[in-house]
Amino acid sequence: SPAMNVAVLGATGSIGTATIDVLHHLDRIDPTKTWNLWAASGHRNVGLLGELAGQFERPPHQIVLSDPESAAAFAAGTMLAKTKIKTGPDALVEIASAPEVDVVVAAIVGRAGLESTLAAIESGKRVALANKETLVVAGSLVQASLQKTKSDRRCAEVLPVDSEHSAIFQCLGDKESSEESENRCKPRKLILTASGGPFRNASIQQMHDATPQLALNHPTWDMGPKITIDSATMMNKALEVIEARWLFDIPAESIEVVVHPQSIIHSMVEFEDGSVIAQLSPPDMRLPIQYALTYPRRLPCETPALDRTRQWDLMLQPVDRERFPALDLGFEVARVGGTAGSVVNAANEEAVGLFLEGKIRFTDIVPACRRALEHHHFEPQPSLSRLLELDRWARAEVRKQYAT
Ligand code: NDP
Ligand code: MG
Repeated sequence: SPAMNVAVLGATGSIGTATIDVLHHLDRIDPTKTWNLWAASGHRNVGLLGELAGQFERPPHQIVLSDPESAAAFAAGTMLAKTKIKTGPDALVEIASAPEVDVVVAAIVGRAGLESTLAAIESGKRVALANKETLVVAGSLVQASLQKTKSDRRCAEVLPVDSEHSAIFQCLGDKESSEESENRCKPRKLILTASGGPFRNASIQQMHDATPQLALNHPTWDMGPKITIDSATMMNKALEVIEARWLFDIPAESIEVVVHPQSIIHSMVEFEDGSVIAQLSPPDMRLPIQYALTYPRRLPCETPALDRTRQWDLMLQPVDRERFPALDLGFEVARVGGTAGSVVNAANEEAVGLFLEGKIRFTDIVPACRRALEHHHFEPQPSLSRLLELDRWARAEVRKQYAT
């Protein structure tokens, strides 16, 4: 049966390890294809990367340790005789664009995932995108690159892994039917749901005093540390508003956010006639990951079905914009585009890092992002190198502010 060669960038992370699970599962149950882990990357978690690679009967062709200092340790400890081991960020770009690769799962956290994700798009891959920061930083460049691969018939695709965007993608219906009825089924609103995170009901004072340990304690999702802090500030939802703006090419004014603490309704689409379609499933990332890999096919998934034998409540409530100022920031960035996403994303990554190190308060994170946005020199159509320059500038600004 035909092989699907998958490159998992950030294989050692929360999304990465869930993706490896999905690959084992698909290889077992898919009668029409074999699913191969063709390449995998990790940054520092040498032991886990070796373990994951060693689980496959057909071991990966290439392994990348993007952190050069971790590479030597990996090479010394590995048993994978036929696997090429490479290091450094350029090697990420190499596996993302290798001709043998069919699907790239972009699961590196933060701006560090940008170049490899762009490379995968440029070389016409299907990209299962978890790394939302790529769209936040360089959404217009991603759109342009997708358009370019369409015109020269390499047809890259970006399929969402983020559960909200996967939900919207599913609610919009598949490509064929929506093209045919383009004028009848225009979405009027994309409605992103947010769990509200650990501080959904917290006072501003409680947030002011919040420790990393409290903020890392997410009520419904088990995720990497950066996105968990983003969920607590609701910067995650702000980033997702920006992600939706680029992914679905829809104006910020057509996007809404609603709090839904149970994390069962993953998002909704409201159509012209007022009808709202939602996607529901238990909070488990294996479902959206698998759908991005197998789309347009739906195959049995290891995510357990919703339990309908007991009562459950699905609550919806508006976001408190005062306690969660990140939301206004996100809508603003989605509206103006240009250099704003790169600056806010970089400031946020830096501020989250400082918070986790105990150097700033939880309630300093979003104001640091706002300040960077307001102090930077906005450009509507920046190049990639300009975006990366501003990324470095914004990080330095945040550090400067808190270096005492
Ligand atoms: P994790 O922190 O769990 O994993 C991050 C991955 O990126 C690891 O493989 C890590 O390697 C690697 N990495 C870290 N820094 C670098 C770097 N500088 N260069 C290259 N690789 C690096 O994150 P998550 O899996 O939680 O998140 C990954 C992405 O998916 C994020 O963009 C997040 O927003 C998005 N996402 C995650 C969801 C979730 O449920 N976790 C849900 C929706 C979106 P190592 O560990 O080996 O050092
Ligand atoms: Mg999400």
